[in-house]
Amino acid sequence: MLAKKDEKLKNFLRESVVIIVGKPAEPIVDFLEGNKYLNEFLIAKKLEITINQTRNILYKLSDHGIVSSIRKKDKRKGWYTYFWKIEIIRALEFLKAHIKKRSDQVKHQVDSRESKIFYICERCNIEFNEENALLYEFTCNECGNIFTLKDNTKVLKELRKNFARQTNDLNEIDGELVQEKEKLGKKKTRELQKEEKEKKRKRDEKRIASKKLRDAKKALEEKTKKKTAKKVVKKVTKKPVKKTVKKVTKKKPKVIKKIKIPKAKPKKKVVKKRK
Ligand SMILES: [Zn+2]
Repeated sequence: MLAKKDEKLKNFLRESVVIIVGKPAEPIVDFLEGNKYLNEFLIAKKLEITINQTRNILYKLSDHGIVSSIRKKDKRKGWYTYFWKIEIIRALEFLKAHIKKRSDQVKHQVDSRESKIFYICERCNIEFNEENALLYEFTCNECGNIFTLKDNTKVLKELRKNFARQTNDLNEIDGELVQEKEKLGKKKTRELQKEEKEKKRKRDEKRIASKKLRDAKKALEEKTKKKTAKKVVKKVTKKPVKKTVKKVTKKKPKVIKKIKIPKAKPKKKVVKKRK
């Protein structure tokens, strides 16, 4: 077993699932994977619940972005089957926000217990802050007992313990997030590199194809040029022949494809202007 580190991550994932859909859905974390989509019927089978119950769980989790799905059409039956995976980073971020909110509340309570005075009716075990105690004139509304000063030591100890545990959880979640994001980064770089390779391959293919085409056209032009050149030589003097030869060989190969379009457009414009 890959052990502790994975188990810690799994515990965090379980916790976020339990917060959203409750304890019975917890084992779903053991089946759902982070990088592979699982057939919803298989998930239902593994959880030993109906497909509808399974979907209910998955939809609720999906509302929080903790799971995601793709669908595939059954070619024979014509309906869609959904495949699911767990979004580890989203689940960790959800849990982090949840714990942060609670720990802020605890921190607030700690501050308040440290800075304010509380009173208690020991018979009814009801607590009052200073303002309310003053309002009741330090006498219990229920039993007439006189309030005593509340000793916060025990409560504070408990609150501080809670706060420390939450802070520790938050730090660990941050650690897991860093790792998961690194993994994701590496995966993305790999995908990008793959994409780049594929693009280069296609570019090369194109280049070779267009070079072949260019060469073929060039060859064809050379042939026709020789023919026309011969004709021109017969009719005109030597100089103009040289010029046409230069123009043809220099310009034409580069602009073969584009040349037809730009020539067509100006013609249209001229026609319009004349109208
Ligand atoms: Zn009382």
